[in-house]
Amino acid sequence: MIFSESGCFPLKKPFVTLEQLRAITARYPTPFHLYDEKGIRENARKLKAAFAWNPGYREYFAVKATPTPAILKLLREEGCGADCSSLTELMLADRCGFSGADIMFSSNDTPPEEFQLAARLGATINLDDFTHIDFLKDTIGAIPETISCRYNPGGTFSIGASEEGFQVMDTPGDAKYGFTRAQLTEGFRKLRALGAKHFGLHAFLASNTLSNAYYPTLAGILFQTAVELREETGCDIRFINLSGGVGIPYRPEQRENDIAAIGEGVRRKYEEILVPAGMGDVAIFTELGRFMLGPYGCLVTKATHFKHTYKEYVGVDACAANLMRPAMYGAYHHITVVGKEDAPCDHKYDVTGSLCENNDKFAVDRMLPEIQSGDLLVIHDTGAHGFSMGYNYNGKLRSAEVLLREDGSTRLIRRAETPEDYFSTMIFD
Ligand SMILES: *Cc1c(COP(=O)(O)O)cnc(C)c1O
Repeated sequence: MIFSESGCFPLKKPFVTLEQLRAITARYPTPFHLYDEKGIRENARKLKAAFAWNPGYREYFAVKATPTPAILKLLREEGCGADCSSLTELMLADRCGFSGADIMFSSNDTPPEEFQLAARLGATINLDDFTHIDFLKDTIGAIPETISCRYNPGGTFSIGASEEGFQVMDTPGDAKYGFTRAQLTEGFRKLRALGAKHFGLHAFLASNTLSNAYYPTLAGILFQTAVELREETGCDIRFINLSGGVGIPYRPEQRENDIAAIGEGVRRKYEEILVPAGMGDVAIFTELGRFMLGPYGCLVTKATHFKHTYKEYVGVDACAANLMRPAMYGAYHHITVVGKEDAPCDHKYDVTGSLCENNDKFAVDRMLPEIQSGDLLVIHDTGAHGFSMGYNYNGKLRSAEVLLREDGSTRLIRRAETPEDYFSTMIFD
């Protein structure tokens, strides 16, 4: 952990400079989400390299993290597929050029029209529940030749803290997702009897993990389960989907995951468990969202109001409707006052939005440099589950999204909502 003399964390720097941001904000009024094409592409390539040992490897980007056409197309250029979980996400993937095997459909509590569209597009369906087998058959008329099932081992899932990373703890037993172990065996048999020929196995056991051991541990569980399932049912298992959950360091003192070490850890489990069982041709899939986009997006906002009561408040022109994670989860998002990176963090502020909700705070008791009216603030790591969780509470409008291209130019990739958008669904008479 490295602190500067000032108490600030010099290690967490925005991917834009003050000069760049001045030019960008002259074209696009704040607030907006800004994405870093270079960072996105480089990271996608690192992920691909980490799993290059597995010939069938593919990342299906979790569309819900950043459902923006320019971003999805960029990831498609990097070889990614799309992981969808709703009707409109399927439509979006289709419109962005993903087709058939490029689309994974991992839904739950699924409405019939979603299975219908997934089947029509030729997406790979990842079933969340045993009862969905009959529901899918009745809805689309048959069971697809290739089908996947989501596993929930129940109980608690934990990895102790190690030199490699932080402790991971989650409680799959409380999660609504997936088949039990016994249901998997019964489900694979039933699906095969109904015509399925090729099978996949999926699980998502912990979110935002900062540990190089998460994927390898999960892979160990899934590989072992796949070997057992093949022995019990004789089913042809073609792929294992490690899903999402590889995290990012939101806090400056946290260490980032080493994706090469993660890929190598999964490879070791593969050699240890699948290869000896004669399953050395199984493809590995991932459905990362946060890891793919989180650090490569930020929310750019301007300081507009200063309030001195029982605390010191800085009001900004963004609010929780633009970034819900701090209000919803108490999530930490690092803030840089752009151009004051080297100034001492000697002022304690609550950084607030304008919603009539006291939890509309991007930061509470945060030590920052002294902020002046008009200062630009970068709220870090909003590239995933940032814009996409936005909402219209208090009649607030969703912001624009801007792409910073590799050559330093910018492109508007989503316009800001207007009042007309807000009123467009209202019925006045
Ligand atoms: C949300 C989600 C993901 C992506 O999760 P991240 O934490 O963003 O990596 C992947 N798969 C499924 C089924 C999901 O619901």
